[in-house]
Amino acid sequence: MSKEKAHKTALQEKEGVSKQEATSKHAISHLKKKRKEQPSTAELLEGILNGNTAALSRGITLIESYNIAHKAKANALIQSCMEHQKPSLRIGITGVPGVGKSTFIETLGTYLTTLGKKVAVLAVDPSSSLSKGSILGDKTRMDSLVKNPNAFIRPSAAGDSLGGVARHTREAITLCETAGYDVILIETVGVGQSETAVHSMVDFFLLLKIAGAGDELQGIKRGIIEMADAIVINKADGDNLTAAKLAKVEFARALHFYPTKDSGWAPKVLLCSALEKKGIEAAWNLISECISQAREKEHFTKKRQEQNRFWLLQSIENQLKDQFFQDEIISEELKIQLQLIAKNKRSPFAAAEHLLNLQKKRL
Ligand code: GDP
Repeated sequence: MSKEKAHKTALQEKEGVSKQEATSKHAISHLKKKRKEQPSTAELLEGILNGNTAALSRGITLIESYNIAHKAKANALIQSCMEHQKPSLRIGITGVPGVGKSTFIETLGTYLTTLGKKVAVLAVDPSSSLSKGSILGDKTRMDSLVKNPNAFIRPSAAGDSLGGVARHTREAITLCETAGYDVILIETVGVGQSETAVHSMVDFFLLLKIAGAGDELQGIKRGIIEMADAIVINKADGDNLTAAKLAKVEFARALHFYPTKDSGWAPKVLLCSALEKKGIEAAWNLISECISQAREKEHFTKKRQEQNRFWLLQSIENQLKDQFFQDEIISEELKIQLQLIAKNKRSPFAAAEHLLNLQKKRL
């Protein structure tokens, strides 16, 4: 009797289960075991290249891991993926909670798949550890895209800082591009710093808005408007249509006060109803127009190069900071210096210099 058969029979005898049950129990435990086994970098790469979404998900889980052993493997995977990366469009979508980001992504993503494109949806949501995934976490909000074989949706990892989420999302982009996704949609909440991080990893940045009660221009951080390549006013339907049209005029007027982009692109305002699937094609045409213009002026590549430079410097900064603050001796000394500062016995600058010198000596 083969080992496998003997195992099944033993399971049957031990638990008094039917042959069929034993077979399925065996299959499940086999699957569980298989899932626990860590595939090699080469296996992951092969899976990703073959469009296997399970391999893509596992690859992203690997890059999100803080386990030291996983880090080297993740770096090797990213490096090998970079050799196979295919061209894509990276689009950032931001807006306050409730504006309709998920609905918009569901509608735009589905539309893009009808054009024959493969769409990946990623998220930068550092709040997800607190809110248990305020964006993308609830995939039911994208129920048709989730089932679409040409779409891949990956929520933000929980329990990560903004720096961590942003880095992991950027690396996830590399993996998705290796898997052949043509359009990468990156969702972020329009609060805090996350939109700045997303802006620095995309080719096009779209700000979703809804018409307010006559105070359209209030409560929007100037910085976000400045970053936007387009403002799309969502929920332009039903009773809201008139207000949305008014908001469009106001935003278009406000945009005149902002300088044009380095590429020469002048941001535009559009109306849409993600729910009624109206204005989506126009939004996509606008994105395509902006990208063609950037390509003509060779700004597309230049911007990506600048973004790479930004992420290199950002990564050094983050790692130096982590090294510094995770050092036990430094953190003890930091407490002492903070007390000295509190008692006005030392200036903050002298304390900083003292701590940095201490670290230099320890390196
Ligand atoms: P998010 O928090 O920005 O991701 O927003 P959601 O996509 O979850 O949408 C929030 C609410 O607005 C949901 O109840 C949606 O059904 C609704 N919504 C989204 N888009 C539209 C739209 O175009 N028109 C209308 N009337 N409602 C919409």
